[in-house]
Amino acid sequence: MALSIDSQRCQGHGRCALISPDLFDVSDEGLGVVLVPRPAPEHATDLTRAIGNCPEMAISYSDHPAG
Ligand code: SF4
Repeated sequence: MALSIDSQRCQGHGRCALISPDLFDVSDEGLGVVLVPRPAPEHATDLTRAIGNCPEMAISYSDHPAG
């Protein structure tokens, strides 16, 4: 499982970084950035909140082609 942000959807609200600063940051361009592609189980609550609060539904946590 891997965490990613769809850069085509992200509009740079920065909510993900506010909600889960351990997992997300905001780039110089103002877009969301994943800090921890494979979050530990203890981050599950933060991860769920960030995904649920992204207005653009740009955050996904799923199987990644690169494994
Ligand atoms: S909350 Fe969503 S739209 Fe906003 S910066 Fe994070 S990924 Fe991008």
